[in-house]
Amino acid sequence: MNFNLDLLLENLKNLNIDINERQITLLDGYTGLLTEKNKVMNLTSIEGPDESAVKHLADSISVMTAADFKPGSKVIDVGTGAGFPGVPLLIMNPEIDLTLLDSTGKKLAFISEALDELGVNAETLHMRAEEAGKDSNRREKYDYAVSRAVASLNVLSEYCLPLIKTGGSFIAMKGPKAEDEIREAENALNILGGKVDKIIPVGLTDGAERNLIVIKKTKSTPPKYPRPSAQISKKPL
Ligand code: SAM
Repeated sequence: MNFNLDLLLENLKNLNIDINERQITLLDGYTGLLTEKNKVMNLTSIEGPDESAVKHLADSISVMTAADFKPGSKVIDVGTGAGFPGVPLLIMNPEIDLTLLDSTGKKLAFISEALDELGVNAETLHMRAEEAGKDSNRREKYDYAVSRAVASLNVLSEYCLPLIKTGGSFIAMKGPKAEDEIREAENALNILGGKVDKIIPVGLTDGAERNLIVIKKTKSTPPKYPRPSAQISKKPL
């Protein structure tokens, strides 16, 4: 086993999430392929069986406490990196329609190869989030956007909210400063059509403070947004 199974099971039990044998096999297969590739290419700094179980797998799967991912739901993982939280979320919810977006091609190439090998189906999209948000095939097409460790909430909102349908949700995986980030993102959320629905604290066995910020898309995003990358970083909303 490429991760500490007992540790994953303990965390999932605490989260009230069931897992079956096939899902364990697929999570193990993905972790194994990532561990191998990470030896020759820098894909993730999270390594070893304990960290893989908690920081990659349980943390990603904890997103299920924030939403009921119905079969056919369109989900986009913005800045997925080596596939987190998207890939574990897909393994646990095989009937979602998942897009894994990242601006780094080599990470997506790894994900695509690994998923093919495991017989798991997802779309990989090599694009910047702010470009995807301007593309009529992508804009306001998703039920959920999820994202971990990509940008501060005000910037991340400009990446994610344009991609979500009105009535859909954006789930931002954040640490101990969730409340501060929400305060800082108030203006961005007002402009982009988002409203904080709830903050869900997530307790995992490593003791780190984690919060899922669930933002409901309450109205359509004005056509001006997302702005070009340089403007977003120079003048965040
Ligand atoms: N979400 C993964 C995780 O938690 O393990 C990866 C986190 S990594 C620190 C941030 C990722 O976001 C990188 O892979 C980077 O290429 C991607 N990224 C940052 N800004 C982006 C943007 N504007 N559009 C698409 N991807 C972006």
